Amino acid sequence: MYNELTSEIIEQIKGVSDHVFEGGDINPDYSKDEMPIYGTKMPDLAVQPRSTEEVAAVMKICYENNIPVTPRGAGTGLAGGAVPVCGGVLIDTSKMNKIISYDLENFVVNIEAGVLLNDLAEDCLGQGMLYPPDPGEKFACVGGNVATNAGGMRAVKYGATRDYVRAMTVVLPTGEITKFGATVTKTSSGYSLLNLMIGAEGTLGIITELTLKVIPAPKVAQSLIIPFEDLDTALKTVPKFKMAHMDPQAIEFMEREIVLASERYIGKSVFPQELEGIQIGAYLLITLDGNTEEEVEGLIEQAAEIVLEAGAIDVLVADTPSKMKDAWAARSSFLEAIMEETKLLDECDVVVPVNEIAQYLNFVNETGAECGLEIKSFGHAGDGNLHIYQCSNDLEEEEFKKRVDKFFGIIYKEATDIGGLVSGEHGIGSGKVKYLLDSVGDVNMSLMEGIKKVFDPKMILNPGKVCYTL
Ligand SMILES: Cc1cc2nc3c(=O)[nH]c(=O)nc-3n(C[C@H](O)[C@H](O)[C@H](O)COP(=O)(O)OP(=O)(O)OC[C@H]3O[C@@H](n4cnc5c(N)ncnc54)[C@H](O)[C@@H]3O)c2cc1C
Repeated sequence: MYNELTSEIIEQIKGVSDHVFEGGDINPDYSKDEMPIYGTKMPDLAVQPRSTEEVAAVMKICYENNIPVTPRGAGTGLAGGAVPVCGGVLIDTSKMNKIISYDLENFVVNIEAGVLLNDLAEDCLGQGMLYPPDPGEKFACVGGNVATNAGGMRAVKYGATRDYVRAMTVVLPTGEITKFGATVTKTSSGYSLLNLMIGAEGTLGIITELTLKVIPAPKVAQSLIIPFEDLDTALKTVPKFKMAHMDPQAIEFMEREIVLASERYIGKSVFPQELEGIQIGAYLLITLDGNTEEEVEGLIEQAAEIVLEAGAIDVLVADTPSKMKDAWAARSSFLEAIMEETKLLDECDVVVPVNEIAQYLNFVNETGAECGLEIKSFGHAGDGNLHIYQCSNDLEEEEFKKRVDKFFGIIYKEATDIGGLVSGEHGIGSGKVKYLLDSVGDVNMSLMEGIKKVFDPKMILNPGKVCYTL
């Protein structure tokens, strides 16, 4: 269905780009993202463009010759989205990494799509501004964050990546360059092509530049580690913050086993394991922010009262930068910690209504046991986005995949039945396409396919992802 990448086509691509890699010069990492269980595949050719025009010129040649193209950021995705499952050309956007300009009268920053989240976050703070989206992996490209609509810890207060994208420059599958959105704060100007691109996982176009909203950085932030005897009690506390007009920047939950794994991994113990003779079964990690020490201290006192009344065993305040760093280092290393101790690993980031989290997690744990899988969970208690890991050290890969498929079938169906969705922030990639179809149904899936065909009539951009099965 696609054409072979002949030496003539490669020569044409070399004619428009000085950043082409062939054969043994292609970075082996391009064959995978952070979830290789969904399959690996090397591209036939890789390009690391430096400009929108260079991306467009390469894309145009691929369109004319019917060659599949896969856009890639930093390859930290967890759904197989950046894997070139049909080979062809991989476009690595990570060298388009300039922070172009700030327009602080309009509260925006203009960047190239390959800027790393960490670099953008630090640069913004240097301007006294905050770029609020805060997914756990800081070394992802912001273009990748936009393509997956990455969420992260601060989404409960500030929203996900989508809420911060004002405009973008895009190279379409035909090689045409266009711009979606504008530096305005509201719009009722036709279909939102901008919003279609956000979360499209590189199936509709390649994002090359972004205009992102920033906000004045809150001056003070402090975190609380709150231990509970069990997860149910911990999760039931969460709506009480909203009822008390509190607006934590982050509300994360985590079970004992995952905290222990993470502390083994980072070699530091930050979370208490037993208090007053009670074994700690679950934790909330909360961050409160504001503009003065007094304001934040007041919020902390109020939060402490709420959680102690609701059954917390203690409240530990991380009130210095180093204590905060330690608490969040443990939280940020969950995935690496699990990877370190696990031979076979799959994960999902299902999202359910917040009032269903506790019950749903019980269902997940029971289903895991029935399917013969070890389950480890943590997640964003404030927005119902759960990270559920299936782990095995003794199963053969085929048997593991069979059990995970059964497990996913059951837990995604339950999530759909209670009003949830397949992915809260990681995306569908190649790994979750069939579960998306089960969840949204034929009508919605064919609407998505129709949109894909309008943008990409030859279906050459990132085939096999989201709504397009091969
Ligand atoms: C330890 C760890 C923690 C993580 N924590 C979080 C978290 O808290 N929240 C969260 O949401 N995610 C998290 N992730 C997942 C991952 O970091 C995000 O999905 C991230 O947004 C991917 O960005 P990337 O640059 O690595 O993209 P890639 O993996 O390279 O690509 C992801 C998808 O985006 C497409 N894409 C990339 N760049 C472009 C572009 N310029 N134009 C068009 N399409 C493009 C690709 O084709 C692919 O489909 C975590 C990952 C790890 C390893």
